[in-house]
Amino acid sequence: MTEIWNPWHGCKKYSEGCENCYMYFLDKQRDKDGSEIYKVKTNFNLPIKKGRDKQYKIKSGSSLMVCMTSDFFLEEADEWREEVWEMIRIRQDVSFWLQTKRAERVKECLPSDWGDGYKNVSLTFTAENQKRADERIPILLDIPLKRRGIMCAPMIGEVSLDKYLATGKIDIVLADGENYEGNRPLYYEWIKRLYDECLKYNVSFEFVGTGNYFIKDGVTYHIPKAYQKVMAQRSGLNIPQKDVNVKVQKKCKTCKMNASCNGCRWCGKCK
Ligand code: SF4
Repeated sequence: MTEIWNPWHGCKKYSEGCENCYMYFLDKQRDKDGSEIYKVKTNFNLPIKKGRDKQYKIKSGSSLMVCMTSDFFLEEADEWREEVWEMIRIRQDVSFWLQTKRAERVKECLPSDWGDGYKNVSLTFTAENQKRADERIPILLDIPLKRRGIMCAPMIGEVSLDKYLATGKIDIVLADGENYEGNRPLYYEWIKRLYDECLKYNVSFEFVGTGNYFIKDGVTYHIPKAYQKVMAQRSGLNIPQKDVNVKVQKKCKTCKMNASCNGCRWCGKCK
């Protein structure tokens, strides 16, 4: 089971991939300001929360995607991070996926007993274009880690990862287009190139979604959010994960958007 854990919320825009940050968009919908950073008190201790039966609410063997509405290495969260490391140490039986754009902050923010990396922590760096890939991925390769990932999202330029994948140190690559208010296009050729490079080095690849504007063979497709994941899956440009699982578990087998099939207009095919 994969779940989301947001110990803090809010962020400061950091690089060009942040321009149309979905968290800012969703906060605006609720009359909130995404630049207001705060500790999510109700869920801060999620990994060690226990139910009435005295058992952890997060079951053994689960995966937690951490900081999906912020950045794990955000400077403003420095005072809260040590508590988070402590919870990660306590829950050795749970996998934690951390994601960041703040590559240069990672080493100074690791706990003192990090060693070769906690066995239950994976780290993914965002690389929205080649410039950011070339800045951040050498840092990622230099950090002692059990599992490394690269997230090309929102992918706003062509990216080649060949020389980084050749190191054998990257476990998974993910790619997605821009959503919500974003209108920067994603090209099929960019995804195909990443897929081919991952295939060459036997690295897992997940084409997560097409984004709002997807261009293939010179034709621009305006794809609603609810259908972006379906279209990405239909492209066949996915290489199954080996020993890792970062997919958020959903019950609808086709659209992956809903907890169960509700016969939405994009799908309605679940039996
Ligand atoms: S780092 Fe992520 S959460 Fe923060 S502003 Fe950029 S896109 Fe948004």
